[in-house]
Amino acid sequence: MRRGILFVLSGASGVGKGTVLRSVLLEDENLYFSVSWTTRAQRKGEVDGKDYHFVTRDDFEQEMKGIGFLEHAEFVGNLYGTPRRAVEKQLEAGIDVMLDVERIGALNVKRLVPDAVLIQLVPPNLSKLRQRLLKRGTDALEVIGRRLERAREDMNFYREFDFVIVNDDLSDAIRELQSVVTAERLSSTRIHPDAFAIHSSQDAKLEEELDRLESEIRLSGAD
Ligand code: 5GP
Repeated sequence: MRRGILFVLSGASGVGKGTVLRSVLLEDENLYFSVSWTTRAQRKGEVDGKDYHFVTRDDFEQEMKGIGFLEHAEFVGNLYGTPRRAVEKQLEAGIDVMLDVERIGALNVKRLVPDAVLIQLVPPNLSKLRQRLLKRGTDALEVIGRRLERAREDMNFYREFDFVIVNDDLSDAIRELQSVVTAERLSSTRIHPDAFAIHSSQDAKLEEELDRLESEIRLSGAD
Protein backbone atom coordinates (compact mmCIF):
# COMPACT_ATOMS: atom_id res chain seq x y z
CA MET A 1 0.00 0.00 0.00
CA ARG A 2 1.10 3.56 -0.72
CA ARG A 3 2.33 5.46 2.34
CA GLY A 4 0.54 8.72 3.12
CA ILE A 5 2.09 12.05 2.16
CA LEU A 6 3.05 14.48 4.89
CA PHE A 7 1.98 18.05 4.07
CA VAL A 8 3.13 20.92 6.26
CA LEU A 9 1.34 24.24 6.05
CA SER A 10 3.06 27.15 7.68
CA GLY A 11 2.19 30.79 7.85
CA ALA A 12 1.91 33.69 10.26
CA SER A 13 -1.04 33.79 12.62
CA GLY A 14 -3.67 36.01 11.07
CA VAL A 15 -2.75 35.01 7.54
CA GLY A 16 -5.95 32.99 7.21
CA LYS A 17 -4.40 29.54 7.57
CA GLY A 18 -7.29 28.24 9.67
CA THR A 19 -9.92 29.30 7.14
CA VAL A 20 -8.02 27.92 4.15
CA LEU A 21 -7.31 24.67 5.97
CA ARG A 22 -10.87 24.11 7.15
CA SER A 23 -12.17 24.44 3.64
CA VAL A 24 -9.59 22.09 2.11
CA LEU A 25 -10.04 19.48 4.86
CA LEU A 26 -13.81 19.53 4.57
CA GLU A 27 -13.66 18.49 0.94
CA ASP A 28 -10.88 15.94 1.19
CA GLU A 29 -11.61 12.72 3.02
CA ASN A 30 -8.12 11.39 2.51
CA LEU A 31 -6.49 14.26 4.33
CA TYR A 32 -6.09 14.00 8.10
CA PHE A 33 -5.45 17.10 10.17
CA SER A 34 -2.95 16.55 12.94
CA VAL A 35 -4.17 18.25 16.13
CA SER A 36 -1.19 19.75 17.95
CA TRP A 37 -0.56 20.07 21.65
CA THR A 38 -0.12 23.56 23.01
CA THR A 39 0.41 25.32 26.32
CA ARG A 40 -1.26 28.46 24.94
CA ALA A 41 -4.53 29.53 26.59
CA GLN A 42 -7.67 28.43 24.76
CA ARG A 43 -9.21 31.25 22.70
CA LYS A 44 -12.90 31.93 22.56
CA GLY A 45 -14.52 29.60 20.04
CA GLU A 46 -11.67 27.07 20.04
CA VAL A 47 -12.52 23.47 20.81
CA ASP A 48 -10.19 21.32 22.91
CA GLY A 49 -9.24 18.20 20.92
CA LYS A 50 -10.28 19.76 17.61
CA ASP A 51 -8.24 22.94 17.28
CA TYR A 52 -5.55 21.93 19.75
CA HIS A 53 -5.02 19.70 22.74
CA PHE A 54 -4.70 22.41 25.38
CA VAL A 55 -2.31 21.22 28.08
CA THR A 56 -0.20 22.57 30.92
CA ARG A 57 3.53 23.14 30.54
CA ASP A 58 4.07 20.23 32.93
CA ASP A 59 2.01 17.83 30.78
CA PHE A 60 3.82 19.03 27.68
CA GLU A 61 7.26 18.54 29.18
CA GLN A 62 6.24 15.10 30.43
CA GLU A 63 5.16 14.12 26.91
CA MET A 64 8.48 15.37 25.51
CA LYS A 65 10.26 12.73 27.56
CA GLY A 66 8.31 9.81 26.07
CA ILE A 67 7.51 8.99 22.40
CA GLY A 68 6.20 12.50 22.39
CA PHE A 69 6.45 14.80 19.47
CA LEU A 70 7.59 14.53 15.88
CA GLU A 71 8.66 18.14 16.36
CA HIS A 72 7.96 20.86 18.86
CA ALA A 73 8.81 24.53 19.18
CA GLU A 74 8.32 27.55 21.37
CA PHE A 75 6.36 30.32 19.71
CA VAL A 76 5.76 33.73 21.31
CA GLY A 77 6.06 32.29 24.81
CA ASN A 78 4.11 29.05 24.35
CA LEU A 79 5.01 25.47 23.46
CA TYR A 80 3.49 23.73 20.43
CA GLY A 81 4.07 20.13 19.34
CA THR A 82 3.00 17.59 16.72
CA PRO A 83 2.03 14.26 18.31
CA ARG A 84 4.29 11.65 16.71
CA ARG A 85 2.21 8.50 17.08
CA ALA A 86 -1.03 9.84 15.59
CA VAL A 87 0.78 11.13 12.51
CA GLU A 88 2.74 7.88 12.00
CA LYS A 89 -0.44 5.83 12.28
CA GLN A 90 -2.19 7.76 9.53
CA LEU A 91 0.80 7.74 7.17
CA GLU A 92 1.19 3.99 7.61
CA ALA A 93 -2.51 3.52 6.80
CA GLY A 94 -1.94 5.40 3.52
CA ILE A 95 -3.73 8.52 4.66
CA ASP A 96 -2.20 11.89 3.83
CA VAL A 97 -1.56 14.15 6.81
CA MET A 98 -1.68 17.94 7.05
CA LEU A 99 0.27 19.74 9.76
CA ASP A 100 -0.16 23.38 10.70
CA VAL A 101 3.15 24.41 12.23
CA GLU A 102 5.29 27.52 12.38
CA ARG A 103 8.47 27.92 10.30
CA ILE A 104 11.03 26.35 12.66
CA GLY A 105 8.83 23.28 13.21
CA ALA A 106 8.21 22.99 9.46
CA LEU A 107 11.93 23.01 8.66
CA ASN A 108 12.57 20.45 11.42
CA VAL A 109 9.92 18.18 9.87
CA LYS A 110 11.67 18.46 6.49
CA ARG A 111 14.93 17.31 8.07
CA LEU A 112 13.21 14.31 9.67
CA VAL A 113 10.94 13.48 6.75
CA PRO A 114 12.74 14.69 3.60
CA ASP A 115 9.81 13.94 1.29
CA ALA A 116 7.38 16.03 3.35
CA VAL A 117 5.78 18.82 1.30
CA LEU A 118 6.31 22.26 2.81
CA ILE A 119 3.89 25.03 1.93
CA GLN A 120 4.11 28.59 3.20
CA LEU A 121 0.98 30.72 3.19
CA VAL A 122 1.89 34.42 3.12
CA PRO A 123 -0.09 37.65 3.22
CA PRO A 124 0.17 39.99 0.20
CA ASN A 125 1.98 42.41 2.53
CA LEU A 126 2.63 42.97 6.25
CA SER A 127 0.06 45.77 6.59
CA LYS A 128 -2.67 43.35 5.53
CA LEU A 129 -1.51 40.96 8.23
CA ARG A 130 -1.40 43.73 10.84
CA GLN A 131 -4.95 44.69 9.89
CA ARG A 132 -6.18 41.10 10.29
CA LEU A 133 -4.50 40.68 13.69
CA LEU A 134 -5.86 43.99 15.00
CA LYS A 135 -9.38 43.26 13.74
CA ARG A 136 -9.37 39.72 15.12
CA GLY A 137 -8.75 41.19 18.53
CA THR A 138 -7.74 37.87 20.12
CA ASP A 139 -4.27 38.98 21.18
CA ALA A 140 -2.88 41.84 23.28
CA LEU A 141 -1.12 44.60 21.31
CA GLU A 142 2.26 43.51 22.63
CA VAL A 143 1.63 39.94 21.41
CA ILE A 144 0.48 41.26 18.02
CA GLY A 145 3.75 43.17 17.73
CA ARG A 146 5.76 40.02 18.45
CA ARG A 147 3.69 37.98 16.02
CA LEU A 148 4.26 40.57 13.27
CA GLU A 149 7.98 40.55 13.92
CA ARG A 150 7.99 36.76 13.63
CA ALA A 151 5.97 36.94 10.42
CA ARG A 152 8.51 39.30 8.85
CA GLU A 153 11.32 36.92 9.82
CA ASP A 154 9.48 33.79 8.65
CA MET A 155 8.63 35.23 5.24
CA ASN A 156 12.35 35.63 4.53
CA PHE A 157 12.65 31.83 4.58
CA TYR A 158 10.20 31.28 1.75
CA ARG A 159 12.82 29.59 -0.43
CA GLU A 160 13.11 26.72 2.06
CA PHE A 161 9.50 25.78 1.32
CA ASP A 162 8.38 23.73 -1.69
CA PHE A 163 5.42 26.00 -2.41
CA VAL A 164 4.38 29.55 -1.54
CA ILE A 165 0.72 30.58 -1.64
CA VAL A 166 -0.22 34.25 -1.35
CA ASN A 167 -3.49 34.65 0.50
CA ASP A 168 -4.92 37.74 -1.16
CA ASP A 169 -8.15 36.23 -2.40
CA LEU A 170 -9.41 33.45 -0.09
CA SER A 171 -11.01 31.26 -2.76
CA ASP A 172 -7.85 31.43 -4.89
CA ALA A 173 -5.73 30.40 -1.90
CA ILE A 174 -8.04 27.45 -1.17
CA ARG A 175 -7.90 26.31 -4.79
CA GLU A 176 -4.13 26.65 -4.85
CA LEU A 177 -3.68 24.53 -1.74
CA GLN A 178 -5.96 21.87 -3.24
CA SER A 179 -3.86 21.97 -6.40
CA VAL A 180 -0.65 21.39 -4.47
CA VAL A 181 -2.19 18.38 -2.71
CA THR A 182 -3.45 16.95 -6.01
CA ALA A 183 -0.16 17.53 -7.84
CA GLU A 184 1.83 15.77 -5.12
CA ARG A 185 -0.54 12.80 -5.17
CA LEU A 186 0.04 12.47 -8.92
CA SER A 187 3.81 12.80 -8.73
CA SER A 188 5.58 9.92 -10.52
CA THR A 189 7.91 9.63 -7.53
CA ARG A 190 4.99 8.86 -5.23
CA ILE A 191 2.36 7.05 -7.27
CA HIS A 192 2.04 3.38 -6.32
CA PRO A 193 2.69 0.91 -9.19
CA ASP A 194 -0.66 -0.77 -8.43
CA ALA A 195 -2.51 2.45 -9.30
CA PHE A 196 -2.32 1.56 -13.01
CA ALA A 197 -1.16 -1.37 -15.14
CA ILE A 198 1.53 -1.31 -17.81
CA HIS A 199 0.71 -4.92 -18.77
CA SER A 200 -2.41 -6.09 -20.67
CA SER A 201 -5.69 -6.34 -18.82
CA GLN A 202 -6.55 -9.64 -17.14
CA ASP A 203 -9.95 -9.54 -18.83
CA ALA A 204 -10.12 -12.56 -21.19
CA LYS A 205 -13.32 -11.34 -22.82
CA LEU A 206 -11.81 -7.96 -23.68
CA GLU A 207 -8.66 -9.62 -25.07
CA GLU A 208 -10.81 -11.92 -27.24
CA GLU A 209 -12.78 -8.97 -28.58
CA LEU A 210 -9.59 -7.04 -29.38
CA ASP A 211 -8.17 -10.07 -31.26
CA ARG A 212 -11.40 -10.35 -33.24
CA LEU A 213 -11.34 -6.63 -34.08
CA GLU A 214 -7.76 -6.89 -35.22
CA SER A 215 -8.44 -9.83 -37.56
CA GLU A 216 -11.50 -8.06 -39.00
CA ILE A 217 -9.36 -5.03 -39.85
CA ARG A 218 -6.71 -7.27 -41.36
CA LEU A 219 -9.30 -9.17 -43.47
CA SER A 220 -10.96 -5.94 -44.67
CA GLY A 221 -7.58 -4.80 -45.95
CA ALA A 222 -8.00 -1.47 -44.21
CA ASP A 223 -4.67 -1.93 -42.51
P1 5GP B 1 -1.66 30.13 17.31
O1 5GP B 1 -1.28 30.44 18.69
O2 5GP B 1 -1.93 31.40 16.50
O3 5GP B 1 -2.75 29.11 17.19
O4 5GP B 1 -0.39 29.43 16.62
C1 5GP B 1 0.85 30.05 16.65
C2 5GP B 1 1.78 29.35 15.70
O5 5GP B 1 2.07 28.03 16.18
C3 5GP B 1 1.22 29.18 14.30
O6 5GP B 1 2.20 29.60 13.37
C4 5GP B 1 0.98 27.70 14.18
O7 5GP B 1 1.18 27.24 12.86
C5 5GP B 1 2.05 27.15 15.08
N1 5GP B 1 1.80 25.77 15.53
C6 5GP B 1 0.62 25.17 15.80
N2 5GP B 1 0.81 23.89 16.15
C7 5GP B 1 2.14 23.67 16.09
C8 5GP B 1 2.97 22.52 16.32
O8 5GP B 1 2.54 21.42 16.64
N3 5GP B 1 4.31 22.68 16.18
C9 5GP B 1 4.87 23.87 15.81
N4 5GP B 1 6.17 23.93 15.67
N5 5GP B 1 4.12 24.97 15.58
C10 5GP B 1 2.78 24.86 15.71
